[in-house]
Amino acid sequence: MAPPPPYLSTPSATAPVASTRATATTTTMPNGKAAMANGTTLKAEPAIDAAHAANDHARTDENTADGAAPRSAQAQELGTLLSALTHMLLQHVDENHDPATRVLHYVPPRDLAARLHLTFPDAGCDLPSLLAAFQSTLDYSVRTGHPLFMDKLYTGPTPVAIAAELLSVALNINTHVFSVSPVGTLMEMACLRELRRLIGYPTNGSGLTLPGGSMSNLVAMCTARNVMFPSIKTDGLHSLPPLAVFTSVQSHYSVEKSAMILGIGRKYVFAVECTPDGRMLASDLDTQILNAKAQGCLPFFVNATAGTTVLCAYDPVREIAAVTKRHQLWLHVDGSWGGTVMFSDKLRHKLDGVELSDSYVVNPHKMLGVPLQCSCLLVAHPPTTMARANSSKANYLYHAPSPAPGANFADPDSDEEEEPLYDLGNLGLGCGRRADGVKLFLSWKWAGTAGYASRVEAAFARADALRAKVAAHPKLARVMESGETGANVCFWYVPADARADVKGWRERLVKDPREFARVADLTARMRVEMVQRGKILVDYAPLPGPNAVPNFWRVPMNSPAVTDKHLDAIVDEIVAIGDLVSEQDASA
Ligand SMILES: *Cc1c(COP(=O)(O)O)cnc(C)c1O
Repeated sequence: MAPPPPYLSTPSATAPVASTRATATTTTMPNGKAAMANGTTLKAEPAIDAAHAANDHARTDENTADGAAPRSAQAQELGTLLSALTHMLLQHVDENHDPATRVLHYVPPRDLAARLHLTFPDAGCDLPSLLAAFQSTLDYSVRTGHPLFMDKLYTGPTPVAIAAELLSVALNINTHVFSVSPVGTLMEMACLRELRRLIGYPTNGSGLTLPGGSMSNLVAMCTARNVMFPSIKTDGLHSLPPLAVFTSVQSHYSVEKSAMILGIGRKYVFAVECTPDGRMLASDLDTQILNAKAQGCLPFFVNATAGTTVLCAYDPVREIAAVTKRHQLWLHVDGSWGGTVMFSDKLRHKLDGVELSDSYVVNPHKMLGVPLQCSCLLVAHPPTTMARANSSKANYLYHAPSPAPGANFADPDSDEEEEPLYDLGNLGLGCGRRADGVKLFLSWKWAGTAGYASRVEAAFARADALRAKVAAHPKLARVMESGETGANVCFWYVPADARADVKGWRERLVKDPREFARVADLTARMRVEMVQRGKILVDYAPLPGPNAVPNFWRVPMNSPAVTDKHLDAIVDEIVAIGDLVSEQDASA
């Protein structure tokens, strides 16, 4: 057995936590905020401050007295584990900022499984083994908090979001009914209300936090379907002609998947054409709707995307809304990736017309540094509408009629809405629900709306900076020479023999299947090399549709920790890997 790691010697199990806090002096946090001193918070919230002060006073007395109240065994165990974990995590976070740290330590799956000791002892393991397993989890996981992790659309969570998530996890809050989640429910409702306000939805709209954008898209489509065809709740789809859904060729696959799950069928998902820069063509949407009607389908749902996954293109919502209004269809806007521009006065114009939509999704777990999952579905219609669409009678849980005002869910089959609905679970598809509103509320409160706006604006500005570097590099070519203004930067590493005439090569890429395949393969092999080197992590994607192009690098901008130096590192590493793989090809 390995000797106990040094952090085990921290006197965590017995040290009274409150006494450390009571003796803390004012320090300035890296974000410029004053840290707590003696329980007083920086922001003026007199009632809360008074409560904290009283609380701290009581605890300080208790813990500074000779015989501090002994902690329960459960509290001691938690203290031991959390202080060891805190020590490890802080070191991990510091390492993320060290230029020598790799984004990942790649070990092939079988070897990694061996290193992780994935066995289940009869008797529980001892503390050093558990902490060693904590440490391996840190060592072999991908460092999403590393500035050069630009692989997917999320980054490492912010400190406040980690703490807030820990809080709600420790309390095990379940936000199906208000009676077991009074705080979680109200925090979620506050977030959703403010998000609706930012996009101009009516104040009496509804919505839910959900485990991911895909789930939000599914719940949106289900809500729309059941609102528009209420008979489905009892009769199923049998009495109706095939329902039809419309979404652009560049949209997220979860739209098609939702149609698969809801019994609509992927055949009835009509793919709408896009402009060369990835935005849905409203004129083609109209054509496709007429086309579906001519085939005997019942169109009901149009998905527009605010920030597509690969190109970060924004569909023209206002133009699309004119079409959906004419045909009386539900308009959903999937802002899972790019929807956070809603926070910024400078960038909100990308959502122009969004207030005309029926539902909207934004994923704070992507661009806002809130831990996975945290997706918000906003619905422009009242909670009774959403409840009527999705609820079934579960009187054992959703007690009705309500014995205490506000503590229960109103009758979903009644149109009267005197009280807001607090039993949120009845609006969705599941039963128990994670309290994702807690971490969002607390993170948002700490960052401020202006803080979120500047985080998003900075990401877009860095994307512009990276685009400029790519455009200036002789070995790289942008996928879209114009029109690309989102948070993603898309480009190829250009093979040496194509550099003399990049324009001609771009045309050949689309027309010549051999060149298409060569570039698709080159990019994919570069990625294998990238993962093994572990210095940066960036993913690639092809573009589908009539103007399909082969695999290219897609770099999403997100983390506020990214500097100009990191942008250079991304460019240099991709070029170095491209050169390396090309050399291997030449000598093969
Ligand atoms: C990421 C993404 C989704 C899916 O979100 P998850 O939280 O991963 O389920 C949906 N739509 C778009 C446009 C996305 O970029």
